[in-house]
Amino acid sequence: MQTFDFIVVGSGSAGSVVAERLSASGRFSVLVLEAGGTDRRFFVQMPLGYGKTFFDPKVNWNYAADADPGLAGNKDHWPRGKILGGSSSINAMVWIRGAAEDFDAWREAGNPGWSFDDLLPAFRAIEDNQAGGTDLRGTGGPIHVTDNRKNVHPLTHRFLAAAQAAGLPLNQDFNGAAQEGVGVYQITTKGGRRMSAARGFLRPAMKRANVTVETDALVTKVLFEGKRACGVEYLQNGAKQTARAGREVILSGGSVNTPQLLQLSGIGPAALLADLGIDVLHANEHVGRNLQDHQGINYTWKAKVPTLNQLLRPWWGKALAGMQYLLLRSGPLSMSMNQGGGFFRTDLSRARPNMQLYFQVFSTVLPKAGERPILTPDPFPGFSIGLSNCRPSSRGEIMIRSADPTVQPRITVNAYSTNSDVAEMLDAVKFLRRIAAQSPIADVIAEEVLPGPSITSDADLIQDFRKRSGTVYHPVSTCRMGPDPTSSVVDPRLRVHGLTGLRVIDASIFPDNITGNTNAASIMTGWKGAQLVLEDVSSFRCWRSPSSSP
Ligand SMILES: Cc1cc2nc3c(=O)[nH]c(=O)nc-3n(C[C@H](O)[C@H](O)[C@H](O)COP(=O)(O)OP(=O)(O)OC[C@H]3O[C@@H](n4cnc5c(N)ncnc54)[C@H](O)[C@@H]3O)c2cc1C
Repeated sequence: MQTFDFIVVGSGSAGSVVAERLSASGRFSVLVLEAGGTDRRFFVQMPLGYGKTFFDPKVNWNYAADADPGLAGNKDHWPRGKILGGSSSINAMVWIRGAAEDFDAWREAGNPGWSFDDLLPAFRAIEDNQAGGTDLRGTGGPIHVTDNRKNVHPLTHRFLAAAQAAGLPLNQDFNGAAQEGVGVYQITTKGGRRMSAARGFLRPAMKRANVTVETDALVTKVLFEGKRACGVEYLQNGAKQTARAGREVILSGGSVNTPQLLQLSGIGPAALLADLGIDVLHANEHVGRNLQDHQGINYTWKAKVPTLNQLLRPWWGKALAGMQYLLLRSGPLSMSMNQGGGFFRTDLSRARPNMQLYFQVFSTVLPKAGERPILTPDPFPGFSIGLSNCRPSSRGEIMIRSADPTVQPRITVNAYSTNSDVAEMLDAVKFLRRIAAQSPIADVIAEEVLPGPSITSDADLIQDFRKRSGTVYHPVSTCRMGPDPTSSVVDPRLRVHGLTGLRVIDASIFPDNITGNTNAASIMTGWKGAQLVLEDVSSFRCWRSPSSSP
């Protein structure tokens, strides 16, 4: 059995950063165990290729949530990256840090070091923002952020003008001083290729002699000596393997897999573990609980003018877009499907935005089951305005249903299970139609396709969004951070309460969800988490044990 200073489980947005930061000094050996395989795949590297990876089991866990009464009984599809780079290798690449108030609330909940001012240096250090450096934006960091303001489709400008006519300010930088308003999204690409956490952090780290990365390695259990984590057990090529951690085991498996792995290892709700025949090492009712996610929906219109549907659907258009991409690394294939968007308040008495907008210059009204036809959109010219809630109050949970680590855990979403979540979504979908009714977007609308003009009453609008909405892939908080072991899973230094040698560093530790997409905050969590590990190593603050090399 090999021994490493640190074992990092999962090479996603956070895990890639943890591996890079912990190995940078050369002092520590780091083993990264990733259940998926290489990210050197065309549809991973090509930004719009994520339509292809959305259901691809070679790179995606393809989770199915349980049938949800809040979603009209639907079993929502939950893609999560199973690949180097994790979900940052299959995501929509929108770069939003979240609101300063989100992180200030984390701090106020008893987590010193997690206010926006505390975290801003990490956000800036991570970034290489094409829009240039400011006191809020970074340059020269590992994650290149493309400023797309000059590249978007003309219809995106119509959307921006219509949203302004509906009362929203133009916002040139959602990662600037304020989130409210509409604008063009910054995205994580460089030179027309996806800028995942693997590309920015893990791949450079893999060149170091002190980093070992094992792919197709599914960690099935954390091993303990008493209450101290000392290694992991994993499955690779059908064989059971073990590796030993001289210092720490760090779980970066993401919001679904990290609580699953803790539960499989005997850390979680005692009754559930006992029912499944798992010995309880440390009872904590909160492992897997407090699941928070953003729910989203699209409204779609048929247009009187060509949209990207006319380019991406016919073979000749695909060939043209493909040539433009291959020769120049530009055009629609080099971008996210969400070219523009923004943030708004459903009610002006609110202090800050509670909804996010997405503008898509194409439409996919009739996908077949198991398909996300971004690269083969509708035959008519169409576009969509989507939205998602930012801080819903509904809570779900993720619980194992078997002691077998290859069985998917149960995902209970409980979407729209509070009156306030329903009420704000109702106000929000009405606002989508207000935008669409404004010139200059109204001038090019032929008809509303979804939900369609017959859906107007509150009851019908609610029924429609329950039927058609679903995750926008931002699950967090299933191993939430907090000072109190009776209401959280990890402490503010991300150490699992009640145990030693074990941390969680990924999106599952968010005390609450943030206002916006979660990749930037997950990468920041990797950065901050690694900093905490290194501080504790050098100050002997936490557990101490001999280090050894592989
Ligand atoms: C389709 C999609 C679109 C999205 N769009 C955006 C967007 O546009 N902008 C944005 O900001 N965010 C977006 N997100 C969300 C964002 O990508 C995630 O919040 C973020 O990547 C989560 O990071 P993480 O480190 O917590 O987990 P992940 O990045 O998911 O990493 C977890 C890693 O751990 C591995 N792993 C898990 N369990 C084990 C195990 N037992 N053994 C070994 N390895 C394991 C996984 O295979 C994976 O590689 C999107 C997500 C998806 C899925």
